Amino acid sequence: MSLAVVNPRTGEADYSIEPLDGDAIAALTTKLRQAQPAWAALTPEVRGDALRKLAAAMGRQRDALVAALTADTGRAGISAIEVEAMTKTFIRWADHAPAVIAAAHVRDRQTAIPTITTTTRLVPYQLVGVISPWNFPLTLALIDAIPALAAGSAVIIKPSEVTPRFIRPLMAAIAEVPQIAAVLTLIEGDGVTGGALVEHVDFIAFTGSVATGCKVGEVAARAFIPASLELGGKDPMLVLASADPAKAAETALRASVLNTGQACQSIERVYVAREIAEPFLAALVEGAKAARLNYPDVHKGDIGPFIFARQAEIVQSQIDDAVAKGAQVLAGGQVETLGGGKYLRPTVLVDVTADMAIMEEETFGPVIPVTIVDSVDEAVRHANSGIFGLSAAVLAGSTEEAETVAVRLKAGGVSINDGSLTGLVWEAEKSSFGKSGLGPSRMGESGLLRFFRKQAIIRQSASALPLSAYSEEALRG
Ligand code: NAD
Repeated sequence: MSLAVVNPRTGEADYSIEPLDGDAIAALTTKLRQAQPAWAALTPEVRGDALRKLAAAMGRQRDALVAALTADTGRAGISAIEVEAMTKTFIRWADHAPAVIAAAHVRDRQTAIPTITTTTRLVPYQLVGVISPWNFPLTLALIDAIPALAAGSAVIIKPSEVTPRFIRPLMAAIAEVPQIAAVLTLIEGDGVTGGALVEHVDFIAFTGSVATGCKVGEVAARAFIPASLELGGKDPMLVLASADPAKAAETALRASVLNTGQACQSIERVYVAREIAEPFLAALVEGAKAARLNYPDVHKGDIGPFIFARQAEIVQSQIDDAVAKGAQVLAGGQVETLGGGKYLRPTVLVDVTADMAIMEEETFGPVIPVTIVDSVDEAVRHANSGIFGLSAAVLAGSTEEAETVAVRLKAGGVSINDGSLTGLVWEAEKSSFGKSGLGPSRMGESGLLRFFRKQAIIRQSASALPLSAYSEEALRG
């Protein structure tokens, strides 16, 4: 049965997808498994050449991909950035994977036993499944798939049913490179399709909410396969007394509301030192009020529509809950319906307390709750509270001072004197703390190496010992 897809700028269901059922997934995965050994047998350099061809094919599909992503997400500029960035990511892994694989493939290592040497071989998981969310549809569909392909795995991707329009132009690009088309496919479907997919793969790379991640983790545990879980966050920003208040406000605003706050690495809580709280808040409110909605012209403005209308309801209910419990709204605060899309101007809240949903749950909207603190210890205590530990930020007068605070935070990545830097760099390995995720880093070399099992070949050059060498008599004497 077809599934309707809603356009975030009009609120109208103007697209539909055909979800795959378990039988169709089984047939597809059988074909991918048949093709994978030949792909894995190629050298990393030859696989890299095929990845570069796919990058070139994506270049030829660029306009269709950008148009699809713009319709999926209601935003134009970031859609163009997504296509460009992922095209470059294919090339980056094509360039880097051969050296990373060569370095990890250890040949003829001498062990402590003079007659024994070892070789460590890298054996890719045969079939990697990817399940991705709606906030960066192309990036999060491909971020794990590309290194998995570079490792020699076959890959099947199930993007979010909320933003599936890019699947068909991407499949058109994949079809232009038969070598890749044999080992990479995308499928349409919702959570039911995603759940069925986990049963058919050897490794699942999931990006999405904590609630769904827990379900995927359970299914993966029963299927006895590794699960890489990249989940939600409630990222804190600590603004120390030595920070420049106006500059800090500008950074806090951008890091909280960019992409309508629909980024896992968005700043969702700010803890500001009392000494600079007044000028910081004044500048933050001024900046929040000056931000323009990206409406009606998709090519103008700062804050786009909510991609998923239900998210607008969640965000509004968190704001209402905070206000009912005593929070004050200094800017924004009310979701607006414009042309059928749901928009929220940057919303600044003060007088927030730990019992409010907006301080405990992921918001995923352009909301900045600000808490004034009297010491660094108090800021660190607040920042480390809650179930999440994705990333964080510290702003101070110097990078050195900020770093002394950063190392006290329970977060996988901490931006110093900026916010949300984890979204910009790919080199830095990071593991999530708390319920923000599980598994090896998707960034850095580990992003590739996690798709391999390691096989040790252990060589004995002397005669193998007989049982009698371990007899009680032999061991005693
Ligand atoms: P979601 O968990 O609702 O859905 C994610 C994907 O899981 C979708 O493709 C969905 O169809 C699928 N799915 C749903 N139920 C399933 C099931 N039972 N089994 C298998 N698959 C199932 O998340 P969302 O609302 O699309 O995305 C927003 C969330 O993603 C936020 O929590 C955000 O923080 C998180 N996120 C995390 C990162 C990261 O790198 N840590 C990056 C981006 C987004």
